[in-house]
Amino acid sequence: MHIILLGPPGSGKGTQAKKISKEYGFIQLSTGDILRASFKSDSNFSKKHKSTVDGGSLVSDELVIRIVEDRIFKEDCSAGYMLDGFPRNLLQAKKLDNMLLNRNQYIDMVLLFNVSDNNVVRRLAGRRFHEKSGRSYHLEFNPPKSEGRDDLTGESLIQRADDKEAVVQSRLKIYHDQTKPLINYYAEKGMLQKIECIGNPAQVFSEIKNIIDK
Ligand code: AMP
Repeated sequence: MHIILLGPPGSGKGTQAKKISKEYGFIQLSTGDILRASFKSDSNFSKKHKSTVDGGSLVSDELVIRIVEDRIFKEDCSAGYMLDGFPRNLLQAKKLDNMLLNRNQYIDMVLLFNVSDNNVVRRLAGRRFHEKSGRSYHLEFNPPKSEGRDDLTGESLIQRADDKEAVVQSRLKIYHDQTKPLINYYAEKGMLQKIECIGNPAQVFSEIKNIIDK
């Protein structure tokens, strides 16, 4: 199954992708994670794109399209995949359609994570990560056992530069201006499934499971 996870930053796409992956074996393809992993080197590429990502702007369409195209046709994706953070605008969506058409593939469904702007700001401000594993926590909703430390390794947790309050507002604006038009785009194709992100991650996951199992 091929699924697009659509929704504002902080709507829980990454958290749910990990749960879906565990349950169904679909691969999580997060363009944000792939970009952040590529910043470990000290190259010019890394510096240029890291400052874009840390500042909350989008990197070029060309770059993310190349990342996705290099990834989704790999062998491990034949079991199914979820696109998390892609497409983020209409051009990317159309490029994805063409890419898939050429290979006789299609997207089965688009899960829309519905969260209000106020909740997005609250969720992002409290979000913390264990950098190596990607495990995520929330100061209020899902705190680590020991403050500032990963539950499994005891290592320090970090806050993503783009989760700082000043940057969150500009990420939200980009979502409204560029990504939201995708809701209609996929609704018109009859592919959209709306998830009301109320309640804890387990409750949201059971809503998603009902949809996938249908
Ligand atoms: P995310 O982890 O999905 O919140 O993505 C973090 C950042 O990576 C975004 O704010 C962008 O700078 C960049 N990024 C991820 N996916 C895309 C995309 N599809 N198009 C452009 N930039 C992206």
